[in-house]
Amino acid sequence: MESKEQFEEIEEIEPKISKIESFIHPSDDELIELDDKAFISSNGYPPDGQATGTLSVTVTDQNGRPVRGHRVRFSLTHVRPSGNWRSASGLKRIYNSRGGNGAKAENLVNRGVIRVIGTLSSSSAVTNSNGIAQVTYRTSHIGTDFNQSSRAREKVTSTLQNGSSRSLNLDIGWTGLKKIQTVSKGLRIIGATGQHVHPDLRTFLINLGNSVKNANWPHEITVTAASLRYGGQYPPHFTHKHGLTLDLRPMSTDGEITWAKSDGSSKSNFDFQRTKALISVLKQSGGTVYFNGKNTGGTVKAGHDDHVHVSWLSSFVKVVKEKEITI
Ligand SMILES: [Zn+2]
Repeated sequence: MESKEQFEEIEEIEPKISKIESFIHPSDDELIELDDKAFISSNGYPPDGQATGTLSVTVTDQNGRPVRGHRVRFSLTHVRPSGNWRSASGLKRIYNSRGGNGAKAENLVNRGVIRVIGTLSSSSAVTNSNGIAQVTYRTSHIGTDFNQSSRAREKVTSTLQNGSSRSLNLDIGWTGLKKIQTVSKGLRIIGATGQHVHPDLRTFLINLGNSVKNANWPHEITVTAASLRYGGQYPPHFTHKHGLTLDLRPMSTDGEITWAKSDGSSKSNFDFQRTKALISVLKQSGGTVYFNGKNTGGTVKAGHDDHVHVSWLSSFVKVVKEKEITI
């Protein structure tokens, strides 16, 4: 009897994970500094490859007391999307199936420029006197897939030396993007898988579409790509991650596809004046514009003969204020 009581007094500690949490760090990303609600989601990470968070695990014993000095292992896996979205060779396949640039995509993943899954600062950490072990998570660029039915999800699993473990899902993707609203005789969407933008850009596009309609342009402005519903990597594009980037068709006299080059040549249906007017409005609103047509006001960049690329990534406050548009 006596020996048994002694045994019970030196009861063995049975560590368990009582809590696993994720705290997203305030990012120094310019978009978040602007304190816009669309870019703050308390339960998710932006798909910008930059944002970080602290993953925190609390280890207690069977009596709820913190266990100090216990090494906790951390591992990270993807939940969705999976398959080709999560490797260099896979992303290469996706890009090649959507017009090319697969080798470029593969190279960017291998160089760490495109992050197909998040990373952890360390694969393990030791609990402090409060029983807390922490590592830093850095987000990926994958925000959704082409179904756009849900945000991307990664999963961190923490495991103790006795094998007990707990997991936490990390959701990645912008939640505040809105679908572009078309304007009859003003603005249309053709062939865009990603039709979502920041809400302020959506408002700007409604105003722009109404201006075009009121000015009786013979053809609408045509959006051919915005962002996916939750943002993130959007093959075949290498930008378009944050709902603040658009591809537009150059304006044409017949409403069909057209092009213009920096040497001054263009397809016969190219509408120089209206393309120039469109680019002017985009630039006035703070947009950075790539288009190769000579004297149209766009910045010349390889691959921009047949579309106007515009982004407000560094300036979208001006988009918000630009309500009256004269085109
Ligand atoms: Zn573009």
